[in-house]
Amino acid sequence: MTFHFPFDNSYARLPDRFFARVAPAVAPAPVLIRVNRGLATALGLDADWLESPEGLEVLSGKRVAEGAEPIAMAYAGHQFGNFVPQLGDGRAILLGEVVDTHGHRKDIQLKGAGRTPFSRGGDGRAVLGPVLREYVVSEAMAALGIATTRALAAVTTGEKVMRDAVLPGAVLTRVASSHIRVGTFQYFAARQDVEGLQTLTRYVIDRHYPDAAVEENPARAFLDSVITAQAKLVASWLLVGFIHGVMNTDNTSVAGETIDYGPCAFMDAYDPATVFSSIDRGGRYAYGNQPQIMQWNLTRLAETLLPLLADEEEAAIELAQEALSSFAAQFEQAYHSGLMRKLGLFTTRDGDMELARDMLSAMTQNQVDFTLFFRRLADAEAPGSPDEPIRALFVDPTVCDALLARWRERIAQEAGEENRRDLMRLVNPAYIPRNHRIEAMIKSAVEEGDFAPFEELLTVLAKPYDDQLEWAHYMDPPQEHERVRATFCGT
Ligand code: AMP
Ligand code: MG
Repeated sequence: MTFHFPFDNSYARLPDRFFARVAPAVAPAPVLIRVNRGLATALGLDADWLESPEGLEVLSGKRVAEGAEPIAMAYAGHQFGNFVPQLGDGRAILLGEVVDTHGHRKDIQLKGAGRTPFSRGGDGRAVLGPVLREYVVSEAMAALGIATTRALAAVTTGEKVMRDAVLPGAVLTRVASSHIRVGTFQYFAARQDVEGLQTLTRYVIDRHYPDAAVEENPARAFLDSVITAQAKLVASWLLVGFIHGVMNTDNTSVAGETIDYGPCAFMDAYDPATVFSSIDRGGRYAYGNQPQIMQWNLTRLAETLLPLLADEEEAAIELAQEALSSFAAQFEQAYHSGLMRKLGLFTTRDGDMELARDMLSAMTQNQVDFTLFFRRLADAEAPGSPDEPIRALFVDPTVCDALLARWRERIAQEAGEENRRDLMRLVNPAYIPRNHRIEAMIKSAVEEGDFAPFEELLTVLAKPYDDQLEWAHYMDPPQEHERVRATFCGT
Protein backbone atom coordinates (compact mmCIF):
# COMPACT_ATOMS: atom_id res chain seq x y z
CA MET A 1 0.00 0.00 0.00
CA THR A 2 1.23 3.48 -0.83
CA PHE A 3 1.43 6.23 1.78
CA HIS A 4 -1.48 8.52 1.05
CA PHE A 5 -0.60 10.65 4.04
CA PRO A 6 3.15 11.21 4.26
CA PHE A 7 2.98 11.12 8.05
CA ASP A 8 5.94 12.31 10.06
CA ASN A 9 4.74 12.11 13.63
CA SER A 10 6.55 13.96 16.38
CA TYR A 11 3.99 14.29 19.19
CA ALA A 12 3.61 10.52 19.38
CA ARG A 13 7.38 10.37 20.12
CA LEU A 14 6.90 12.33 23.36
CA PRO A 15 6.68 10.43 26.67
CA ASP A 16 3.70 8.12 27.14
CA ARG A 17 2.01 10.33 29.72
CA PHE A 18 1.43 13.04 27.05
CA PHE A 19 -1.33 11.06 25.35
CA ALA A 20 -3.20 7.80 25.10
CA ARG A 21 -2.90 5.55 22.07
CA VAL A 22 -6.33 4.83 20.75
CA ALA A 23 -7.97 3.54 17.58
CA PRO A 24 -10.76 5.51 15.93
CA ALA A 25 -14.22 3.96 16.15
CA VAL A 26 -15.47 2.21 13.05
CA ALA A 27 -18.16 4.22 11.30
CA PRO A 28 -20.93 1.82 10.23
CA ALA A 29 -21.97 3.53 6.99
CA PRO A 30 -19.75 6.47 6.14
CA VAL A 31 -20.77 8.95 3.46
CA LEU A 32 -18.52 11.69 2.17
CA ILE A 33 -19.86 15.23 2.46
CA ARG A 34 -16.87 17.08 1.18
CA VAL A 35 -13.12 17.10 0.77
CA ASN A 36 -11.43 20.49 0.82
CA ARG A 37 -9.47 19.93 -2.37
CA GLY A 38 -7.47 23.16 -2.19
CA LEU A 39 -6.30 22.44 1.32
CA ALA A 40 -5.54 18.82 0.44
CA THR A 41 -3.26 19.97 -2.35
CA ALA A 42 -1.54 22.50 -0.11
CA LEU A 43 -0.89 19.68 2.34
CA GLY A 44 0.66 17.59 -0.40
CA LEU A 45 -2.22 15.09 -0.29
CA ASP A 46 -4.01 13.47 -3.18
CA ALA A 47 -7.50 15.01 -3.23
CA ASP A 48 -8.81 12.38 -5.66
CA TRP A 49 -7.74 9.60 -3.34
CA LEU A 50 -9.31 11.35 -0.34
CA GLU A 51 -12.59 11.34 -2.27
CA SER A 52 -12.24 7.65 -3.14
CA PRO A 53 -13.93 4.87 -1.12
CA GLU A 54 -10.60 4.11 0.53
CA GLY A 55 -10.09 7.78 1.41
CA LEU A 56 -13.57 7.88 2.90
CA GLU A 57 -12.71 4.94 5.13
CA VAL A 58 -9.75 6.87 6.53
CA LEU A 59 -11.71 10.13 6.93
CA SER A 60 -14.48 8.33 8.82
CA GLY A 61 -12.15 6.39 11.12
CA LYS A 62 -13.01 3.04 9.59
CA ARG A 63 -9.47 2.42 8.42
CA VAL A 64 -6.29 3.71 10.00
CA ALA A 65 -4.15 5.33 7.32
CA GLU A 66 -0.74 3.84 6.73
CA GLY A 67 1.80 5.69 8.87
CA ALA A 68 -0.79 7.12 11.27
CA GLU A 69 -0.21 6.72 15.02
CA PRO A 70 -3.59 7.61 16.45
CA ILE A 71 -3.48 9.28 19.84
CA ALA A 72 -5.75 11.29 22.12
CA MET A 73 -3.81 14.18 23.63
CA ALA A 74 -3.85 14.85 27.37
CA TYR A 75 -4.74 18.34 28.57
CA ALA A 76 -6.43 20.16 31.42
CA GLY A 77 -8.14 23.54 31.41
CA HIS A 78 -10.17 26.27 33.00
CA GLN A 79 -13.75 26.00 31.79
CA PHE A 80 -15.66 29.23 32.49
CA GLY A 81 -13.08 29.99 35.13
CA ASN A 82 -13.17 26.60 36.89
CA PHE A 83 -10.11 24.42 36.75
CA VAL A 84 -10.50 20.84 35.54
CA PRO A 85 -7.20 18.95 35.99
CA GLN A 86 -7.99 16.41 33.32
CA LEU A 87 -9.87 17.02 30.08
CA GLY A 88 -7.98 15.71 27.07
CA ASP A 89 -9.23 14.69 23.64
CA GLY A 90 -12.50 13.05 24.54
CA ARG A 91 -13.78 12.88 21.00
CA ALA A 92 -10.83 13.79 18.85
CA ILE A 93 -8.07 11.56 17.61
CA LEU A 94 -4.81 12.86 16.23
CA LEU A 95 -3.80 10.66 13.31
CA GLY A 96 -0.41 12.23 12.93
CA GLU A 97 1.44 15.09 11.30
CA VAL A 98 2.32 15.97 7.73
CA VAL A 99 4.68 18.64 6.46
CA ASP A 100 2.83 20.81 3.94
CA THR A 101 4.11 22.19 0.64
CA HIS A 102 5.42 25.29 2.47
CA GLY A 103 7.40 23.16 4.89
CA HIS A 104 4.99 23.73 7.79
CA ARG A 105 4.13 20.82 10.06
CA LYS A 106 0.38 20.24 10.42
CA ASP A 107 -1.71 17.98 12.64
CA ILE A 108 -4.35 15.83 10.98
CA GLN A 109 -7.09 15.13 13.48
CA LEU A 110 -10.41 13.31 13.33
CA LYS A 111 -13.01 15.11 15.46
CA GLY A 112 -15.92 12.88 16.41
CA ALA A 113 -14.18 9.55 15.84
CA GLY A 114 -15.27 7.84 19.03
CA ARG A 115 -14.46 7.41 22.69
CA THR A 116 -10.99 7.77 24.17
CA PRO A 117 -9.63 7.37 27.70
CA PHE A 118 -10.42 11.11 28.11
CA SER A 119 -14.09 10.85 27.17
CA ARG A 120 -15.34 10.90 30.76
CA GLY A 121 -19.14 10.60 30.42
CA GLY A 122 -19.19 11.61 26.76
CA ASP A 123 -19.85 9.41 23.75
CA GLY A 124 -16.88 10.58 21.71
CA ARG A 125 -19.13 11.57 18.84
CA ALA A 126 -19.74 14.74 16.90
CA VAL A 127 -23.02 15.52 15.18
CA LEU A 128 -23.57 16.88 11.73
CA GLY A 129 -24.69 20.43 12.56
CA PRO A 130 -21.63 21.47 14.61
CA VAL A 131 -19.31 19.71 12.14
CA LEU A 132 -20.73 21.77 9.27
CA ARG A 133 -20.57 24.94 11.35
CA GLU A 134 -16.91 24.36 12.17
CA TYR A 135 -16.16 23.55 8.55
CA VAL A 136 -17.77 26.72 7.20
CA VAL A 137 -16.66 29.13 9.91
CA SER A 138 -13.05 27.93 10.06
CA GLU A 139 -12.74 28.11 6.28
CA ALA A 140 -14.35 31.56 6.27
CA MET A 141 -11.87 32.70 8.91
CA ALA A 142 -8.98 31.43 6.80
CA ALA A 143 -10.31 33.30 3.76
CA LEU A 144 -10.64 36.45 5.89
CA GLY A 145 -6.93 36.10 6.65
CA ILE A 146 -7.28 35.12 10.31
CA ALA A 147 -5.07 32.46 11.91
CA THR A 148 -7.17 29.35 12.31
CA THR A 149 -7.37 25.60 12.20
CA ARG A 150 -8.75 24.35 8.88
CA ALA A 151 -11.26 21.80 7.69
CA LEU A 152 -9.91 19.11 5.38
CA ALA A 153 -13.05 17.00 5.12
CA ALA A 154 -16.46 16.22 6.57
CA VAL A 155 -18.25 12.87 6.50
CA THR A 156 -21.35 11.41 8.08
CA THR A 157 -20.81 8.12 9.89
CA GLY A 158 -24.21 6.51 9.47
CA GLU A 159 -24.59 6.47 13.23
CA LYS A 160 -27.47 7.98 15.16
CA VAL A 161 -26.20 10.10 18.02
CA MET A 162 -28.28 11.03 21.06
CA ARG A 163 -28.35 14.68 21.96
CA ASP A 164 -31.51 16.69 22.70
CA ALA A 165 -32.75 14.81 19.68
CA VAL A 166 -31.37 11.85 17.72
CA LEU A 167 -28.95 13.37 15.22
CA PRO A 168 -26.69 12.13 12.42
CA GLY A 169 -23.13 11.42 13.55
CA ALA A 170 -20.30 13.09 11.63
CA VAL A 171 -16.54 13.42 11.63
CA LEU A 172 -14.58 16.54 10.81
CA THR A 173 -11.00 16.13 9.66
CA ARG A 174 -9.26 19.09 11.19
CA VAL A 175 -5.87 20.51 10.29
CA ALA A 176 -3.95 22.64 12.79
CA SER A 177 -0.44 23.98 13.25
CA SER A 178 -0.78 21.90 16.39
CA HIS A 179 -3.44 21.04 18.94
CA ILE A 180 -1.32 22.11 21.89
CA ARG A 181 -3.31 24.33 24.20
CA VAL A 182 -2.75 26.48 27.26
CA GLY A 183 -4.54 23.57 28.93
CA THR A 184 -1.80 21.18 27.80
CA PHE A 185 0.66 23.15 29.94
CA GLN A 186 -1.84 23.21 32.79
CA TYR A 187 -2.11 19.43 32.66
CA PHE A 188 1.55 19.01 33.62
CA ALA A 189 1.60 21.96 36.02
CA ALA A 190 -1.37 20.51 37.93
CA ARG A 191 0.66 17.31 38.40
CA GLN A 192 3.77 19.27 39.41
CA ASP A 193 5.45 17.44 36.57
CA VAL A 194 8.24 19.92 35.87
CA GLU A 195 10.05 17.48 33.62
CA GLY A 196 6.89 17.14 31.54
CA LEU A 197 6.63 20.93 31.35
CA GLN A 198 10.24 21.16 30.22
CA THR A 199 9.72 18.54 27.56
CA LEU A 200 6.52 20.20 26.34
CA THR A 201 8.12 23.65 26.28
CA ARG A 202 11.10 22.38 24.33
CA TYR A 203 8.77 20.66 21.91
CA VAL A 204 6.59 23.73 21.37
CA ILE A 205 9.58 26.02 20.92
CA ASP A 206 11.07 23.67 18.37
CA ARG A 207 7.78 23.35 16.51
CA HIS A 208 6.29 26.85 16.71
CA TYR A 209 8.81 29.36 17.96
CA PRO A 210 12.31 28.17 17.00
CA ASP A 211 13.74 31.67 17.51
CA ALA A 212 13.03 31.34 21.23
CA ALA A 213 15.48 28.45 21.49
CA VAL A 214 18.49 30.70 21.03
CA GLU A 215 17.30 33.35 23.50
CA GLU A 216 18.93 33.65 26.90
CA ASN A 217 15.66 32.58 28.57
CA PRO A 218 13.80 30.36 26.10
CA ALA A 219 10.77 29.88 28.38
CA ARG A 220 10.37 33.66 28.64
CA ALA A 221 10.82 34.07 24.88
CA PHE A 222 8.21 31.39 24.32
CA LEU A 223 5.76 33.13 26.66
CA ASP A 224 6.40 36.44 24.89
CA SER A 225 5.77 34.79 21.52
CA VAL A 226 2.44 33.32 22.57
CA ILE A 227 1.38 36.66 24.06
CA THR A 228 2.20 38.43 20.80
CA ALA A 229 0.43 35.82 18.68
CA GLN A 230 -2.70 35.89 20.83
CA ALA A 231 -2.81 39.70 21.05
CA LYS A 232 -2.85 39.81 17.25
CA LEU A 233 -5.36 37.00 17.01
CA VAL A 234 -7.92 38.58 19.35
CA ALA A 235 -7.54 41.92 17.57
CA SER A 236 -8.23 40.19 14.26
CA TRP A 237 -11.38 38.64 15.75
CA LEU A 238 -12.69 42.00 16.95
CA LEU A 239 -12.01 43.62 13.59
CA VAL A 240 -14.38 41.23 11.80
CA GLY A 241 -16.95 40.86 14.59
CA PHE A 242 -16.08 37.29 15.57
CA ILE A 243 -17.15 35.89 18.92
CA HIS A 244 -15.43 32.63 19.84
CA GLY A 245 -17.97 31.77 22.51
CA VAL A 246 -15.92 29.31 24.63
CA MET A 247 -12.55 30.90 25.33
CA ASN A 248 -11.64 28.30 27.93
CA THR A 249 -7.92 27.71 28.40
CA ASP A 250 -8.29 24.29 26.76
CA ASN A 251 -9.60 26.09 23.68
CA THR A 252 -6.65 28.48 23.49
CA SER A 253 -3.90 27.35 21.13
CA VAL A 254 -0.28 28.12 21.96
CA ALA A 255 0.35 28.40 18.21
CA GLY A 256 -2.00 31.40 18.13
CA GLU A 257 -4.69 29.89 15.91
CA THR A 258 -8.42 30.12 16.41
CA ILE A 259 -9.36 26.63 17.59
CA ASP A 260 -12.38 24.64 18.76
CA TYR A 261 -15.27 26.27 17.00
CA GLY A 262 -18.28 25.57 19.15
CA PRO A 263 -21.07 28.07 19.69
CA CYS A 264 -19.07 30.72 17.84
CA ALA A 265 -20.81 33.44 15.87
CA PHE A 266 -20.33 36.68 13.98
CA MET A 267 -22.02 39.78 15.26
CA ASP A 268 -24.54 41.51 13.02
CA ALA A 269 -25.41 44.81 14.75
CA TYR A 270 -22.42 46.21 16.62
CA ASP A 271 -22.66 45.80 20.38
CA PRO A 272 -19.68 44.86 22.56
CA ALA A 273 -22.02 43.03 24.97
CA THR A 274 -23.06 40.54 22.29
CA VAL A 275 -23.16 36.91 23.42
CA PHE A 276 -24.60 34.04 21.42
CA SER A 277 -23.53 30.93 23.28
CA SER A 278 -26.40 29.37 25.19
CA ILE A 279 -23.99 28.12 27.86
CA ASP A 280 -22.38 31.53 28.45
CA ARG A 281 -25.05 32.82 30.80
CA GLY A 282 -22.92 35.44 32.52
CA GLY A 283 -21.56 36.83 29.26
CA ARG A 284 -18.01 35.93 30.28
CA TYR A 285 -17.06 35.44 26.63
CA ALA A 286 -18.99 38.39 25.16
CA TYR A 287 -17.50 40.06 22.08
CA GLY A 288 -16.00 42.97 23.99
CA ASN A 289 -14.62 40.82 26.82
CA GLN A 290 -12.42 38.73 24.56
CA PRO A 291 -9.19 40.73 25.03
CA GLN A 292 -9.45 40.60 28.83
CA ILE A 293 -10.27 36.91 28.75
CA MET A 294 -7.29 36.21 26.54
CA GLN A 295 -5.09 38.06 29.01
CA TRP A 296 -6.58 35.91 31.78
CA ASN A 297 -5.85 32.74 29.79
CA LEU A 298 -2.29 33.86 29.11
CA THR A 299 -1.85 34.50 32.82
CA ARG A 300 -2.79 30.85 33.40
CA LEU A 301 -0.12 29.86 30.84
CA ALA A 302 2.47 32.06 32.54
CA GLU A 303 1.71 30.43 35.90
CA THR A 304 2.50 27.00 34.51
CA LEU A 305 5.86 28.29 33.25
CA LEU A 306 7.05 29.70 36.59
CA PRO A 307 9.38 26.75 37.37
CA LEU A 308 11.00 27.22 33.96
CA LEU A 309 11.31 31.00 33.99
CA ALA A 310 13.77 31.28 36.88
CA ASP A 311 15.14 29.26 39.78
CA GLU A 312 13.76 31.66 42.37
CA GLU A 313 9.99 31.91 42.43
CA GLU A 314 10.01 35.64 43.02
CA ALA A 315 12.21 36.27 40.03
CA ALA A 316 10.02 33.96 37.95
CA ILE A 317 6.86 35.85 38.94
CA GLU A 318 8.49 39.12 38.04
CA LEU A 319 9.42 37.82 34.59
CA ALA A 320 5.92 36.45 34.05
CA GLN A 321 4.32 39.74 35.07
CA GLU A 322 6.64 41.69 32.84
CA ALA A 323 5.68 39.50 29.89
CA LEU A 324 1.95 39.66 30.65
CA SER A 325 1.99 43.41 31.07
CA SER A 326 2.84 43.75 27.38
CA PHE A 327 -0.37 42.09 26.26
CA ALA A 328 -2.66 45.12 26.54
CA ALA A 329 -0.36 47.37 24.55
CA GLN A 330 0.20 44.76 21.86
CA PHE A 331 -3.51 44.09 21.57
CA GLU A 332 -4.31 47.78 21.37
CA GLN A 333 -1.64 48.40 18.80
CA ALA A 334 -3.05 45.65 16.57
CA TYR A 335 -6.66 46.63 17.18
CA HIS A 336 -6.17 50.37 16.72
CA SER A 337 -4.10 50.05 13.59
CA GLY A 338 -6.68 47.60 12.24
CA LEU A 339 -9.49 50.05 12.96
CA MET A 340 -7.57 52.82 11.23
CA ARG A 341 -7.20 50.65 8.13
CA LYS A 342 -10.91 49.90 8.25
CA LEU A 343 -11.53 53.66 8.30
CA GLY A 344 -9.14 54.23 5.40
CA LEU A 345 -6.66 56.24 7.46
CA PHE A 346 -3.03 55.63 6.71
CA THR A 347 -1.40 58.28 8.86
CA THR A 348 -2.04 58.91 12.55
CA ARG A 349 -3.51 62.14 13.86
CA ASP A 350 -4.77 63.19 17.24
CA GLY A 351 -8.45 62.44 17.51
CA ASP A 352 -8.43 59.45 15.18
CA MET A 353 -9.24 56.96 17.91
CA GLU A 354 -11.87 59.32 19.23
CA LEU A 355 -13.51 59.34 15.82
CA ALA A 356 -13.38 55.54 15.68
CA ARG A 357 -14.85 55.26 19.19
CA ASP A 358 -17.61 57.73 18.41
CA MET A 359 -18.47 55.74 15.33
CA LEU A 360 -18.57 52.47 17.24
CA SER A 361 -20.72 53.84 20.03
CA ALA A 362 -23.10 55.43 17.51
CA MET A 363 -23.28 52.04 15.83
CA THR A 364 -24.31 50.44 19.11
CA GLN A 365 -26.94 53.07 19.81
CA ASN A 366 -28.31 52.82 16.28
CA GLN A 367 -28.08 49.03 15.92
CA VAL A 368 -25.88 49.40 12.89
CA ASP A 369 -24.64 46.29 11.14
CA PHE A 370 -20.88 46.17 11.79
CA THR A 371 -19.86 44.53 8.52
CA LEU A 372 -22.09 46.55 6.21
CA PHE A 373 -21.12 49.82 7.87
CA PHE A 374 -17.45 49.47 7.02
CA ARG A 375 -18.07 48.02 3.58
CA ARG A 376 -20.41 50.90 2.72
CA LEU A 377 -18.02 53.40 4.24
CA ALA A 378 -15.50 52.31 1.61
CA ASP A 379 -18.11 52.91 -1.07
CA ALA A 380 -19.02 56.30 0.43
CA GLU A 381 -15.43 57.39 -0.07
CA ALA A 382 -15.79 58.10 -3.78
CA PRO A 383 -16.69 61.76 -4.42
CA GLY A 384 -20.35 62.17 -5.30
CA SER A 385 -21.35 58.70 -4.10
CA PRO A 386 -24.76 58.64 -2.40
CA ASP A 387 -24.84 58.46 1.39
CA GLU A 388 -28.17 56.70 1.42
CA PRO A 389 -26.85 53.10 1.66
CA ILE A 390 -24.85 53.86 4.80
CA ARG A 391 -27.46 56.23 6.31
CA ALA A 392 -30.06 53.50 5.94
CA LEU A 393 -28.13 51.36 8.46
CA PHE A 394 -28.85 53.85 11.28
CA VAL A 395 -32.01 54.11 13.34
CA ASP A 396 -31.35 57.85 13.31
CA PRO A 397 -29.64 58.71 9.99
CA THR A 398 -28.74 62.24 11.14
CA VAL A 399 -26.22 60.62 13.51
CA CYS A 400 -24.66 59.08 10.45
CA ASP A 401 -24.53 62.44 8.64
CA ALA A 402 -22.52 64.00 11.44
CA LEU A 403 -20.07 61.09 11.54
CA LEU A 404 -19.64 61.04 7.77
CA ALA A 405 -18.90 64.76 7.80
CA ARG A 406 -16.20 64.28 10.43
CA TRP A 407 -14.77 61.29 8.59
CA ARG A 408 -14.65 63.12 5.23
CA GLU A 409 -12.95 66.07 6.83
CA ARG A 410 -10.36 63.73 8.28
CA ILE A 411 -9.62 61.80 5.09
CA ALA A 412 -9.34 65.09 3.21
CA GLN A 413 -6.25 65.77 5.35
CA GLU A 414 -4.49 62.80 3.82
CA ALA A 415 -2.81 63.33 0.51
CA GLY A 416 -3.02 61.21 -2.57
CA GLU A 417 -4.78 58.06 -1.42
CA GLU A 418 -6.40 57.47 -4.80
CA ASN A 419 -6.73 53.84 -3.91
CA ARG A 420 -8.22 54.40 -0.46
CA ARG A 421 -11.48 52.76 -1.44
CA ASP A 422 -9.67 49.65 -2.70
CA LEU A 423 -7.48 49.47 0.38
CA MET A 424 -10.53 49.80 2.63
CA ARG A 425 -12.28 47.02 0.78
CA LEU A 426 -9.31 44.73 1.39
CA VAL A 427 -9.93 44.90 5.14
CA ASN A 428 -13.70 45.39 5.24
CA PRO A 429 -15.31 42.15 4.09
CA ALA A 430 -18.59 42.07 2.23
CA TYR A 431 -19.26 38.50 3.32
CA ILE A 432 -19.05 36.95 6.77
CA PRO A 433 -20.60 33.66 7.90
CA ARG A 434 -23.75 35.22 9.24
CA ASN A 435 -25.49 33.23 11.90
CA HIS A 436 -28.87 33.00 10.23
CA ARG A 437 -27.21 31.62 7.10
CA ILE A 438 -25.30 29.05 9.12
CA GLU A 439 -28.43 27.94 10.96
CA ALA A 440 -30.41 27.67 7.72
CA MET A 441 -27.56 25.70 6.12
CA ILE A 442 -27.48 23.28 9.07
CA LYS A 443 -31.25 22.86 8.99
CA SER A 444 -31.21 21.99 5.28
CA ALA A 445 -28.45 19.44 5.74
CA VAL A 446 -29.78 17.79 8.90
CA GLU A 447 -33.48 17.83 8.17
CA GLU A 448 -33.52 17.43 4.40
CA GLY A 449 -30.14 15.99 3.55
CA ASP A 450 -29.67 19.00 1.29
CA PHE A 451 -26.04 20.14 1.25
CA ALA A 452 -26.47 22.75 -1.48
CA PRO A 453 -26.60 25.65 1.03
CA PHE A 454 -23.40 24.30 2.64
CA GLU A 455 -21.62 24.29 -0.72
CA GLU A 456 -23.01 27.70 -1.60
CA LEU A 457 -21.86 29.25 1.68
CA LEU A 458 -18.38 27.87 1.15
CA THR A 459 -18.27 29.35 -2.35
CA VAL A 460 -19.37 32.81 -1.19
CA LEU A 461 -17.15 32.88 1.89
CA ALA A 462 -14.04 31.80 0.01
CA LYS A 463 -13.82 35.37 -1.37
CA PRO A 464 -15.09 37.57 1.43
CA TYR A 465 -13.55 40.78 0.09
CA ASP A 466 -14.89 40.44 -3.47
CA ASP A 467 -18.21 41.92 -4.54
CA GLN A 468 -19.54 38.67 -6.06
CA LEU A 469 -22.75 40.42 -7.01
CA GLU A 470 -24.50 37.17 -7.88
CA TRP A 471 -24.33 36.40 -4.15
CA ALA A 472 -25.27 39.88 -2.93
CA HIS A 473 -28.13 38.52 -0.82
CA TYR A 474 -25.52 36.80 1.37
CA MET A 475 -24.44 40.25 2.51
CA ASP A 476 -27.79 40.92 4.12
CA PRO A 477 -28.18 40.92 7.87
CA PRO A 478 -31.02 38.78 9.20
CA GLN A 479 -34.60 39.97 8.98
CA GLU A 480 -36.28 40.15 12.36
CA HIS A 481 -37.77 36.65 11.99
CA GLU A 482 -34.43 35.19 10.82
CA ARG A 483 -32.41 36.48 13.75
CA VAL A 484 -30.55 33.80 15.70
CA ARG A 485 -30.44 34.61 19.39
CA ALA A 486 -28.50 31.66 20.75
CA THR A 487 -26.01 29.15 19.41
CA PHE A 488 -25.35 25.74 20.88
CA CYS A 489 -22.09 23.88 20.95
CA GLY A 490 -23.94 20.63 20.39
CA THR A 491 -21.44 18.43 22.22
P1 AMP B 1 -15.14 21.38 23.96
O1 AMP B 1 -16.33 21.98 24.62
O2 AMP B 1 -15.44 20.78 22.62
O3 AMP B 1 -13.98 22.30 23.92
O4 AMP B 1 -14.73 20.13 24.85
C1 AMP B 1 -14.39 20.22 26.21
C2 AMP B 1 -13.97 18.86 26.71
O5 AMP B 1 -15.05 17.94 26.61
C3 AMP B 1 -12.84 18.22 25.91
O6 AMP B 1 -12.07 17.46 26.80
C4 AMP B 1 -13.58 17.34 24.95
O7 AMP B 1 -12.78 16.28 24.47
C5 AMP B 1 -14.72 16.84 25.78
N1 AMP B 1 -15.89 16.46 24.97
C6 AMP B 1 -16.72 17.27 24.29
N2 AMP B 1 -17.67 16.59 23.66
C7 AMP B 1 -17.46 15.28 23.94
C8 AMP B 1 -18.11 14.05 23.59
N3 AMP B 1 -19.20 14.03 22.81
N4 AMP B 1 -17.59 12.90 24.06
C9 AMP B 1 -16.51 12.91 24.84
N5 AMP B 1 -15.86 14.02 25.22
C10 AMP B 1 -16.32 15.19 24.78
MG1 MG C 1 -12.21 22.14 23.28
